[in-house]
Amino acid sequence: MQNNLFWIEIGLIIVGIILLGMSLVPVRAIIQQLPAGKVRARWKILSIFIFIFLAGYIRYSLLHSPGTIHSLADLVVPGIFLGGAIFVFMVCSLSLETAIDLRRIFLLERETITDPLMGIYNRRYLDRRLLEEFQRARRYELPFSVFLLDIDFFKKINDTYGHQIGDMVLKKLATVIVDSVRELDVVIRYGGEEILVILPNTQVANAVELAQRVRQKVKETMLVEPDQKKYRPAIYITVSIGVAGYRFSDELDTARGVVERADQALYQAKHQGRNRVVSSTGYDNLS
Ligand code: GH3
Ligand code: MG
Ligand code: MG
Repeated sequence: MQNNLFWIEIGLIIVGIILLGMSLVPVRAIIQQLPAGKVRARWKILSIFIFIFLAGYIRYSLLHSPGTIHSLADLVVPGIFLGGAIFVFMVCSLSLETAIDLRRIFLLERETITDPLMGIYNRRYLDRRLLEEFQRARRYELPFSVFLLDIDFFKKINDTYGHQIGDMVLKKLATVIVDSVRELDVVIRYGGEEILVILPNTQVANAVELAQRVRQKVKETMLVEPDQKKYRPAIYITVSIGVAGYRFSDELDTARGVVERADQALYQAKHQGRNRVVSSTGYDNLS
């Protein structure tokens, strides 16, 4: 009987040791995926604790021999040890699986709100984000502006050089705009070659200045390199931009209303000759 109990105890401890050892696998995977920082350091500390537990299990098992086990009560401590090992293993492997699931959800979510050609947000994201920013502006009485940009005579680029070159222009334009605005500004593909930029916490006058900078930057940037073999020159474009801001005084103003005014201002910019920024307040900025 005592002999049997001894081997049951050894069995419990061995399973515990195996589970603790296996816990180190997900912990290692988590540490490898985390960037350097506090969280990673804490996972490293946790793995040190697992090693200490392992050493404790082994030390405990070495203290025992068939003669040291007298009754079932002597199995309580190794039983608790095993329970602890199961707990550690489950927490570590669940943490890894949860992290993988969350990342998958995040990537999927990002994919559904990203335009595949331009690599900026798509229209699906617009409504949600626009409303969020608008409500924030209203609640905290912060300024809020948007600008809507459209390429001048883009059809001509497609007609002259083909759709593929047109796509290259769109791709490069997106990077020029993203690089020209601030990090917290939101760049969205609004339509075919129309880009909407949401500018949280920005007065219309500042939005106009930013739009002017973007317009100038686009104008100066070579979007597609020349190709002598195909007799294709370097491609430069100009853009027209309509700017609008939230009207605090108008209680009936809506997020959609702000975008509509930017659209009307863009129409004005086109009408006035293109390659310019027009604000919906009538504040014109000629090139
Ligand atoms: P305007 O100065 O009045 O804006 O003239 P425009 O020629 O740019 O006219 P418009 O803005 O109406 O042109 C839109 C063109 O954009 C039509 C369409 O062929 C092109 N387009 C829309 N989406 C894409 C795309 O994903 N790739 C390419 N290559 N072209 C696109
Ligand atoms: Mg256009
Ligand atoms: Mg257009």
